[in-house]
Amino acid sequence: VGAGFGGLAAARRLARQPVDVVVVDRTNHHLFQPLLYQVATGLLSAGQIAPPVRMALRDHPNSSTLLAEVVGFDLPARQLRLRHPDGSEGTLGYDYLVVAAGATDSYFGHDDWARYVFPMKTLAQAVALRGRLFGAYELAAQLDDPAERQRWMTFVVVGAGPTGVELAGQLTTVARQLRPEFHDLDLTRTRIVLVDGEAEPLPSFPPRLRAHVRRKLAELGVDVRLGRLAVGVDADGIDVREHHAGGPDGVGRTERISAGTVVWAAGVQASPLARMLGEATGADVDRQGRVAVAPDCSLPGHPEVFAIGDMVALHDLPGLAEPAMQEGCYVARVIGRRVTGRRPPRRFRYLDLGMMATISPSDAIAEIRGLQLSGLPAQLAWGGVHIAFLVGWGNRVGVLSRWAYNLLSKDRAEREMLGGVGSADLLPSLAHTDEPGNT
Ligand SMILES: Cc1cc2nc3c(=O)[nH]c(=O)nc-3n(C[C@H](O)[C@H](O)[C@H](O)COP(=O)(O)OP(=O)(O)OC[C@H]3O[C@@H](n4cnc5c(N)ncnc54)[C@H](O)[C@@H]3O)c2cc1C
Repeated sequence: VGAGFGGLAAARRLARQPVDVVVVDRTNHHLFQPLLYQVATGLLSAGQIAPPVRMALRDHPNSSTLLAEVVGFDLPARQLRLRHPDGSEGTLGYDYLVVAAGATDSYFGHDDWARYVFPMKTLAQAVALRGRLFGAYELAAQLDDPAERQRWMTFVVVGAGPTGVELAGQLTTVARQLRPEFHDLDLTRTRIVLVDGEAEPLPSFPPRLRAHVRRKLAELGVDVRLGRLAVGVDADGIDVREHHAGGPDGVGRTERISAGTVVWAAGVQASPLARMLGEATGADVDRQGRVAVAPDCSLPGHPEVFAIGDMVALHDLPGLAEPAMQEGCYVARVIGRRVTGRRPPRRFRYLDLGMMATISPSDAIAEIRGLQLSGLPAQLAWGGVHIAFLVGWGNRVGVLSRWAYNLLSKDRAEREMLGGVGSADLLPSLAHTDEPGNT
């Protein structure tokens, strides 16, 4: 279940085993989430980071794909409950089950904020954000009121993890690259604000690399507001409260940031399928909704059911692509050995290959097995790893040539809005307001 990093790795590894594999996903593509922000900012096309699952598995004759949403499990009967594309429901039987359904957004208990912010987990969300980003500039260019114009040129990114930092840096590049095209709008007035409750950006990186990121973001002109929590979001902006400094009543000062666009790159929550598996098997589910699995990624009392990736809690591993892929390969080995009557492999051990984040087209940070890199060397390592892990040679060549072209020409080609004036596509925010007729 799930053709993301974990599910696809498992399916591909199972190609070498005497089994039939059915990959069930509610979308028809494998999404390379690490480059979503480049789709949202008009650098890459959606297809370049989202190859069809069928194409990814076409050289694996023992695999088939099924476009359907898993809505429940009947573990005693060894069946999945499915919703098909036409809305009808059905079931699918299995001998072994691998669930790799990933994670969704979490609004820290404020689900009502979802209608005002732009998350960036799915392809549809990245395309919606792209419409908003370029639509905001088009609208700002038509406004006479300076305060409203500035509001539409203000972009707040909530969450200073890799996604937030990468997006904030990229937004400054967009503003710079669009400047020659807007004769009627001063794009130097673009304001990009990066907000996080933590005292440092990218807290999982070593202090030297974090300091590098802070310095570079400041040089790019990103207004970094750390130690501040989002306490309110509406159609006109966001309220943030100082988190560490206590005011007279023990509560920090609250500040209003007027903004046309608030991007949510903060909390994540495991897929609801994790809780369903926890309830069905008695396995623990943590605060992020992740289900606890045994060292071989199986569920209690069900050695034939495995869960992997972002939806599981195992050895405190982070929600990254590499653990999901390594778990997928491991589980495929467990299944392969079982069906061929061999001894199970040794317990799963994660091989930490390091972490990376990019700040601008020529700057990144990387921590690779104790080696700390920043600047161009880190950016080259970042680019190499991302190209290597993209699925399909066509996409690898396409992304690489697009990066090279952008470096030389500064053009951003992928800026199409899917609707025209008056459509929710042009300014998707309209879909977020209470105004009648905006759906
Ligand atoms: C914007 C962004 C940037 C990121 N950048 C990085 C990075 O630079 N480096 C890094 O290592 N990690 C990064 N990550 C994290 C990384 O993408 C995840 O850790 C990884 O995708 C987890 O893999 P997975 O297989 O668990 O889930 P996913 O890859 O999310 O796959 C889950 C799949 O399950 C499908 N699915 C979900 N529910 C159902 C259902 N009910 N029925 C059927 N199908 C379902 C989904 O459609 C999806 O295809 C980033 C994540 C995001 C959102």
